[in-house]
Amino acid sequence: MRDGWVNAEEMRWTARHWATTMGLERSGIRIMPLKKKWGSMSLRGWMTLSSELLDLPKELGEYVIVHELVHQLAPNHGRVFKAFLKSYMPDWEERHALLQKHVVIDGKWVAEKLVLSDQDEQMLDPVVEQTAKSC
Ligand SMILES: [Zn+2]
Repeated sequence: MRDGWVNAEEMRWTARHWATTMGLERSGIRIMPLKKKWGSMSLRGWMTLSSELLDLPKELGEYVIVHELVHQLAPNHGRVFKAFLKSYMPDWEERHALLQKHVVIDGKWVAEKLVLSDQDEQMLDPVVEQTAKSC
């Protein structure tokens, strides 16, 4: 079992730490329930993190933090964005893939590692799509 977050304050501290490391100290941090996103970054530098991340392993929340901070350097997910991401977090692709495996079913976070019937898969796909698009 991987380590989880102690509380929201720890996640906030980690986000501040990364912002300082990346020279983006002026970022503001909010943690709140987000229905279809893991996180977002406003033009003014406000980072919003989904409070659902508190229930997932730390390394996944950390990925979302770094991902959102990199958006201050590169707004879209192009080549420049990925180059920055890779330099700050060399294993980001692995974490991204793990995060994609976490979906909500009946209000519970589950890993999508279970073997699914065709019917389940149809139900699951739109959720995975949403998380894939919104990061
Ligand atoms: Zn993004």
